Amino acid sequence: MSSGPLNLRSPREIRLMSKAGGLVWEAHQLVRKMIRPGITTGEIDAEVEELFRRHAAVPLFQGVAGKVPFPAVTCMSINDEVVHGIPGPRVLRAGDVLSVDTGCKVNGWCGDSAWTYRVGQVDTTADKLLEVTEAALELAIELLNSCEYWSEVARQMQQLVETTGFSVVTDFVGHGIGREMHEAPEVPNYYSEEFRREGDFELRTGLVLAIEPMVNAGGREVNRLPDHWTQATVDGSWSAHFEHTVALTSAGPRILTGPPED
Ligand code: MG
Ligand code: MG
Repeated sequence: MSSGPLNLRSPREIRLMSKAGGLVWEAHQLVRKMIRPGITTGEIDAEVEELFRRHAAVPLFQGVAGKVPFPAVTCMSINDEVVHGIPGPRVLRAGDVLSVDTGCKVNGWCGDSAWTYRVGQVDTTADKLLEVTEAALELAIELLNSCEYWSEVARQMQQLVETTGFSVVTDFVGHGIGREMHEAPEVPNYYSEEFRREGDFELRTGLVLAIEPMVNAGGREVNRLPDHWTQATVDGSWSAHFEHTVALTSAGPRILTGPPED
């Protein structure tokens, strides 16, 4: 998906990207408000689509090529579903966890962010999984300040996850982001010698990365479901996914898909 030279963005370009990021953040606030037992994932997706339309933003997920083009503006992955779930008639129930991933393009610049939400009260394993996955994302962003290479960040994210007994999904990785949603480099959430040798990159000012740990409560293996899109854990264990679009600026990392700064 993402090879080639790394794009370094100017402060002006990062400001432009924060418009798309801000709208993605707004979409997540909308999702957060709508989530309750009894609502369908399709209803939530329709509201996000409407929000993007009102702001003349181009949804990034709709129409993504596959055996079946992706039919929605969000991915909604429930419980043991890891990523790429298709919103539809499925009704949320208390105790579910719902991973929502969405992205849009505003004035030619992209933002991408995912969050796993609790539907009512969830069991203690699911609760801990969400905490740990969010903490892995927070740790990664913090480490952008002090690490020289991404592989060091990835190693520490993986350690944080594995000390809890959970596992990092290795079939999917984060990515550079800018004019396109998926740009170089690949941004894995785990360490490997192969990556350190062949894919590693220096954490330079101007890089904009979509950092997105995906963590399973059980084993790391995932399988695609017959709908051609949804990826679920092989062992049926819970899965969580947190993602921010983050710019490395001369003043440190800046989350572009977070709340407005001023
Ligand atoms: Mg995403
Ligand atoms: Mg992404």
